[in-house]
Amino acid sequence: MSHPYRTHTCGELSVADVGKEVKLSGWVHRRRDHGRLIFVDLRDRYGITQIVFSADRAPEAYEVAKGLRSEYVIRVQGEVVARPADMRNPNLKTGDIEVWAGRLDVLNPSKPLPFEIDVEKPVPETVNLKYRYLYLRRQSVQERLIMRHRITHWVRNFLHARGFIEIETPLLSKTTPEGARDFLVPSRNFPGTFYALPQSPQQYKELLMIAGFDKYFQIARCLRDEDPRADRQPEHTQIDIEMSFVTREDVLALLEEMIIGLVEEVSDRKLLFKPLPRIPYAEAIARWGSDKPDLRFGMELQDVSAIAAKSGFRVFAATVAQGGQVKGIVVPGLAGLSRRELDEVNARAQQLGGKGIVWLAVNPEGGVRASTSYLEPEITQAIVAATKANPGDLILLVGDTPKIVANVLGQLRLDFGDRLGLRDPRVVAFAFIVDFPMFEWDEERRRYDPVHHMFTRPRPDSLPLLDTDPLAAISEQYDIVCNGLELASGSIRINERWLQEKVMQMVGLSLEEARSKFGHLLEALEFGAPPHGGVAPGLDRLVMVLTGTPALREVIAFPKTQRGEDLMMNSPIPASEEQLRELHLRVVED
Ligand code: ASP
Repeated sequence: MSHPYRTHTCGELSVADVGKEVKLSGWVHRRRDHGRLIFVDLRDRYGITQIVFSADRAPEAYEVAKGLRSEYVIRVQGEVVARPADMRNPNLKTGDIEVWAGRLDVLNPSKPLPFEIDVEKPVPETVNLKYRYLYLRRQSVQERLIMRHRITHWVRNFLHARGFIEIETPLLSKTTPEGARDFLVPSRNFPGTFYALPQSPQQYKELLMIAGFDKYFQIARCLRDEDPRADRQPEHTQIDIEMSFVTREDVLALLEEMIIGLVEEVSDRKLLFKPLPRIPYAEAIARWGSDKPDLRFGMELQDVSAIAAKSGFRVFAATVAQGGQVKGIVVPGLAGLSRRELDEVNARAQQLGGKGIVWLAVNPEGGVRASTSYLEPEITQAIVAATKANPGDLILLVGDTPKIVANVLGQLRLDFGDRLGLRDPRVVAFAFIVDFPMFEWDEERRRYDPVHHMFTRPRPDSLPLLDTDPLAAISEQYDIVCNGLELASGSIRINERWLQEKVMQMVGLSLEEARSKFGHLLEALEFGAPPHGGVAPGLDRLVMVLTGTPALREVIAFPKTQRGEDLMMNSPIPASEEQLRELHLRVVED
């Protein structure tokens, strides 16, 4: 009894403790007033214990208990008593006992709360983020963050056991091109100059390979000043990995072991594929319309271009004639969608960048209704046969460029997957996507953009294509995807200066720019840079899929708003005159 606050936690006591005099501290989760008895659910991180205050047995404590309100912090001393058989709570670890309080101290009261902690109702964003420390008291939120800790801990052990060394790299750094805007930090000592916060430790980890560390990892914070988008955060965490003298398959084998271990040993999710499939990028786009396909359900994209080309329906025939495609998905059982709903699907397709959809509804008796009378019955029947649609199914067709077809149908597939309940969060379908193109064409800036980043190596057979047909070049990039999310990108890297300079120039840097921005790396490549490659699984998203949580901010302790504000700390704020002067900065009003 000597400890001032507790002999046990609130998740600990059981019938084995009956008769013991104990001391507990925690928060008033709930209080129920039954006249001469007051019941309090006392909560801490470990659980909930029911406390009983009796007006007859402990009048002094009872009097204090009358004034208790939600989230007061209290200390209770009393005796562990077995609950009567009909009062036991099988849902609670401590549900077989209660503590009859002899003494109660209020350690600290609480103001009335901005939202309930004990009832897990949604909380408006502004309140949730402002009072984040209160939101974090909720049991489900704590469970997720504890799971996050277990995942990180497991990964550290896993990598350590395989000879990886955890090395921290600087936060005050220089621009690393991961495709986003940099956060800049002004230098006081060098007026007018700036550090960049790292978008990832990419260059450092490559330099560590050149330094000979062979196997590196870091649970690394990455900072990207990206345009606000739903479910994005300006900072995220990566399990950053780099290895020397490895092939693509070596990296994938390590990741495969790590993912299977995490799912099976740490999470309660069901792993759909084992081993993890390796799917070429082109196949992913063709079958699921996405390079991060959700593989938990079918509804694959089917190419009916050859049939559509024969139709008198000019929109389709012309699309195919101009090198486009006509593809479709079969939505099972939804032939009966109303006009209004089909119009909504059409609007959705337009919102996704398409011209709209053509739909075919296969009637239960086998006849076909089409959204346009221009599609001849033989054509619609041929499409039904080719797509193996059953009576009662709905076929959604899109004719357009391959890119738009994939975008529109890929997303409609996900929409209907949600609607039909096919995206079960208890199931995790991990896969690798491989053989990505090296570049995509940026029409606006009229230049090649690296699909991953500019340190990614072209596949040996694609090297000549860098000169002749860069958009056809395939790289040594690989991604990990799960349930429609991209969880990681990685690649085998370029380790020769000439090739690195060539790729930098291809993505729009002049040789001078390349050398001034990345001279350190280019030079290092000339001092015996070993072949190396790596990957960086996003920890936040990994926690999302392993806990079945749909929103990023639910797995982050202190997230920011979509616009990057910290509503709790009230940041960002203006700097003081003095700070600005020291930094040689002046704020110019727009
Ligand atoms: N640095 C890369 C990224 O943040 C990952 C990698 O290539 O290892 O996506």
